[in-house]
Amino acid sequence: MQLKIDLHVHTTYSSDSLITPKDLDFYAKKRGLDGVAITDHDRIDGALKIAKETDLLVIPGTEISSLNGHVIGLNVNELVPPKLGVDETLDRIHDAGGIAIACHPITFFKESLKGRISPRFDAIEVINSSAFPFNYTVRRSQEIASTLGIARVAGSDAHYGPEIGYAYTLVDAEPDVDEIVKAIRKGSCSPHGKAIPLKMRIKKEFLILRRKF
Ligand SMILES: [Zn+2]
Ligand SMILES: [Zn+2]
Repeated sequence: MQLKIDLHVHTTYSSDSLITPKDLDFYAKKRGLDGVAITDHDRIDGALKIAKETDLLVIPGTEISSLNGHVIGLNVNELVPPKLGVDETLDRIHDAGGIAIACHPITFFKESLKGRISPRFDAIEVINSSAFPFNYTVRRSQEIASTLGIARVAGSDAHYGPEIGYAYTLVDAEPDVDEIVKAIRKGSCSPHGKAIPLKMRIKKEFLILRRKF
């Protein structure tokens, strides 16, 4: 079957996200998603906890701040420490039984891998709804994926409930985390989606600021 999954969502376990477990559930269902990957910054505890508590299909993941830029590990059950080189980060993700995604590989204003993407990655996030400038990043990421011949995925990088589902990956798999991850590694998936509207981003920044003060 074909599953519609947003592979990049931050919850309140990331200090810069507003998405509570309740929001996650509400907006994922509203957007018609079959599942989400929770990818909080350098944490896995929230993802594992929420995965147990919701009836939503959750892929536990983490967005790791490697020395060379952000890397997403999906289906990892233990923490991969930040501030390691990209190669060691990939080793740790694979040792933990997960797959590694080069997220927003070339966008500005984010910790991007830029030239450090190799065929050792299992997939490239060619569409990231929060990336800037959006069309340029999608085009360049598609080119890198073609050159390396690795799978293409998409995620919203949502930090605010209404942003969930702006991008998603269609995966040919049964609704089971191990099966989904296996299908992505094989390339049985396709990226879809668009940029988060500017108005929504401004509202989110305002809400995040208001929470801080
Ligand atoms: Zn990132
Ligand atoms: Zn992110």
